[in-house]
Amino acid sequence: MKKLANKVALVTGGSRGIGAAIVRKLAADGASVAFTYTRSAEKAEALAAEIQAAGGKALALQADSAQAKAVIDAVNTAVASFDGLDILVNNAGIYVGKDFAEHTIEDYDEIMAVNVKAVYVAALEAVKHLKSGGRIITIGSNMGDNAIGPQTTLYTMSKSALHGLTRGLARDLGPKGINVTLVQPGPIDTDMNPANTEFADFLRSKTALGRYGTGEDIAGLVSFLASEESKYITGSWVTIDGGFNA
Ligand code: NDP
Repeated sequence: MKKLANKVALVTGGSRGIGAAIVRKLAADGASVAFTYTRSAEKAEALAAEIQAAGGKALALQADSAQAKAVIDAVNTAVASFDGLDILVNNAGIYVGKDFAEHTIEDYDEIMAVNVKAVYVAALEAVKHLKSGGRIITIGSNMGDNAIGPQTTLYTMSKSALHGLTRGLARDLGPKGINVTLVQPGPIDTDMNPANTEFADFLRSKTALGRYGTGEDIAGLVSFLASEESKYITGSWVTIDGGFNA
């Protein structure tokens, strides 16, 4: 039997990049997977069709994480479509990088809405459905521990907020048998952080392994954290950054 057989997962931001790799991996491991997107309807539908063609179950949902109601609706649609929820993966995230003098309050509102508030809202709704053995896994960043340079204040702040959320939620949900973990990727080759730029050369030079990671690297860890094998891990995070923060 596949390790996530009979499990239902919801992945936010699953149409591209790390989220799409997580959707593929959880589905390959046997889970029924609902996932959200905002703009990339074509990519999202193609991913769902690819999984269905391989005999899996997948559902693409348009839901902007910046809108609390959309997040709540996505959780409930996943529950209604696949008859429950076992695994919530909060992956959707945005990056705002610019001189602090150019920051605006709108930048703050936007990044905190997607990177932090949406995680809180999804967890709040998901706990109505998660049973013992359930998982809440959030994708943070190695920058939650390491503001790697200037122009990173908002992103770093949003990702380190997830430390408190992970610790607190683990305490709140531990008695219910629900594990809460945070995954902190380093440079991963996606649209957000393409590996073929001058900045990418700088990031690569800071890793111990001298290279970027892939969405599949992150997806493998998420699948482990979603599985029975991780049952004694909660309230903590795993940094998966090729040694960037070493
Ligand atoms: P991408 O920008 O490549 O992909 C982002 C995904 O999230 C897309 O599927 C996008 O959907 C979706 N998304 C973006 N905004 C929203 C929103 N408001 N509501 C719903 N979905 C949304 O990002 P990555 O794959 O690189 O990043 C994924 C996560 O990993 C993020 O949380 C990011 O902070 C984190 N991370 C990434 C690193 C990297 O080096 N790439 C390093 C450390 C952390 P759509 O296609 O519709 O736009």
